[in-house]
Amino acid sequence: MTGRDRVARTRAATAPTDQLSLRRTNLSRVLVHLRDHGPRPRATIATGTGLHKATVSSLVDELLTRRLVREIGLQRSGFAGRPGRVLALDGATVGALGVEINVDYLGVHGIDLAGRPVVERRTAFDAAGSGPDAAVDRLAGVIRGALRDMRRRDAPAAGVVVAVPGLIDVERGVVVLAPNLGWRHLPLADRLRAALPAHLPVEVDNDANLAALAEYTYGVAAGTDDLVYLTGEVGVGGGMIVGGRLLRGAEGFSGEVGHLPVDPAGRRCGCGRTGCWETKVGLAELVRLITPEQPHTHQVRDPEERLREISRRLEAGDPVAEAAVAQVGRWLGLGGAILVNLVNPRAIVLGGYFATLADRLLPTAQRELDRLAVAGPAARCRFVASNLGFTAAARGAAGVVVDRVLADPTTVGTAPATAARGTSAVPG
Ligand SMILES: [Zn+2]
Repeated sequence: MTGRDRVARTRAATAPTDQLSLRRTNLSRVLVHLRDHGPRPRATIATGTGLHKATVSSLVDELLTRRLVREIGLQRSGFAGRPGRVLALDGATVGALGVEINVDYLGVHGIDLAGRPVVERRTAFDAAGSGPDAAVDRLAGVIRGALRDMRRRDAPAAGVVVAVPGLIDVERGVVVLAPNLGWRHLPLADRLRAALPAHLPVEVDNDANLAALAEYTYGVAAGTDDLVYLTGEVGVGGGMIVGGRLLRGAEGFSGEVGHLPVDPAGRRCGCGRTGCWETKVGLAELVRLITPEQPHTHQVRDPEERLREISRRLEAGDPVAEAAVAQVGRWLGLGGAILVNLVNPRAIVLGGYFATLADRLLPTAQRELDRLAVAGPAARCRFVASNLGFTAAARGAAGVVVDRVLADPTTVGTAPATAARGTSAVPG
């Protein structure tokens, strides 16, 4: 079962309470069916969803009016009868915007409903050094720019989700604590709503959680029901998919694996504690090991240039660089073993710089994981490098917006005059 099927099944299991929500649920079923199974005529949609043909026709009429599906030709489904018009998920006219703010960059990833990229960019930005007010202003400016570009390409965004490296109160859109950004109790969703077009839905979530969702849907381990995603930046966060669902915990603060205390005699972490896992495997530690002569800070200036330099030194067989990467690899394996003992994932997907240096890091990390996990190699958990690059979190964020639209197609476009009474008609 793929992640998408499971999302669809979870939705279908929600009992509708009235006519309106029944219609919303059925509109969603038709759209999700078309996304998962591709273009097909009404009769095939009816068979596939278990809905009556007449119901499907009425639902499709509404989806056509809302420009969420389109007719793309004729198909004969049997020997007898008229050929049926083939319907396809359109979605080119609806956009979904995902944004990521991290210690040293801002990333935007705008897609249309079918997942095709509309805008994508990443810009260097000293979020940690600029303070929360300036960072929120800059973030709002970047979002406004992306919204303009998406409108210009006829895919206005139906919502925006912002990925933040920290503890997030998702319900209220509050960043409770983001140690590496220096943010505490920041009502980010409210602040952004005040600076963005009215009625645009704005949500905030943890970057690793969103990246884990992106990996589960689009990544190298897509469809793996038990997987852990690790952000490999200055900070290290984890997003955990357990049994096909994102593990959030009681307050939504699960996955703070970067702050697992692994070395009581270790260094001070950005969170104020000592010997956290990210002080062993974060990018700042790798840079410190490779350039011990330079003053050590929790931040890394120009991380991409530093990574290129580290790669060059590894290529040249620099023993200091090789020893540093081996040491980080061993600590990566040790933390991986803790995760395997806890949640028994099938895959640990490595993002950020871990993915960039995967060829060097993975063999050592895998050996150490197999040695230290109580089930040993029998746990059958593999480290794998993400192929989503630095876009995973923003991509997962955009995916959340797409899921919202697919769950309630009445939030975009205009309802046809004949649609169920009371159906909302929010302009897209
Ligand atoms: Zn810490």
